[in-house]
Amino acid sequence: MICTNLTTIKEKIIVAAHGCNRDPDDVRLVAVSKKMEVDLIQQACDCGQTLFGENYLQEAKGKINQLDKKLKWHFIGHLQSNKARHAAELFQVIETVDRLKIARLLDKYAGELGKKLEVLIQVNIAGEQQKAGISPEKIRELLTNTSDLINLQVRGLMMIPPFSSTPEKNRHWFRKVKQLSVDLAQEELFHKNESVELSMGMSGDFTVAIEEGATLIRVGTAIFGPRPN
Ligand SMILES: *Cc1c(COP(=O)(O)O)cnc(C)c1O
Repeated sequence: MICTNLTTIKEKIIVAAHGCNRDPDDVRLVAVSKKMEVDLIQQACDCGQTLFGENYLQEAKGKINQLDKKLKWHFIGHLQSNKARHAAELFQVIETVDRLKIARLLDKYAGELGKKLEVLIQVNIAGEQQKAGISPEKIRELLTNTSDLINLQVRGLMMIPPFSSTPEKNRHWFRKVKQLSVDLAQEELFHKNESVELSMGMSGDFTVAIEEGATLIRVGTAIFGPRPN
């Protein structure tokens, strides 16, 4: 079932990318495996999936250590300061940096590990009260401050749109984040301004996100089925 789901999603990526004159290879699929057992992740690996996303540090640590070392992991959950060291160690990309304090800690630990850590800045694009992410108004200040952190490479933006009943309603938010990334790249605020990463789109709306410029889509349910509670 997981293989079939992955194939279906890859076909949809190709159709969506071709539909807007993008190269499908410019869209990477992050298989969101939170709350999924190791054997299910292994099944996805056996079908050729090598990039995974996890939300909870403790849970991820157990799984990452059991699985093939060649796999790549993105951290997509809320990151607490006391977990920053482990996050820097276990993950190739931290997608949810939204404050200077956490950026500084990740930089410090990456330095100790002798690695350059790629991160994305999580943007709270709709200004939702309860949601993580930095507001678009404050992002320049954060990017300016993080540019001094030599072990961090800020590669782009990540966003989670407000809850909505239809994917089409999210298009507007995806477009806003894309425009913001274009503006920030023009001001040369990213590590590689010619290839900025945009992590947006989940099971229900990834084709719309691709049409609006997503380079990373984070898909869980459509691959693994519904999550246990
Ligand atoms: C769980 C999660 C996803 C995956 O959501 P699905 O609807 O299951 O595809 C994507 N991004 C984040 C940040 C998540 O927490």
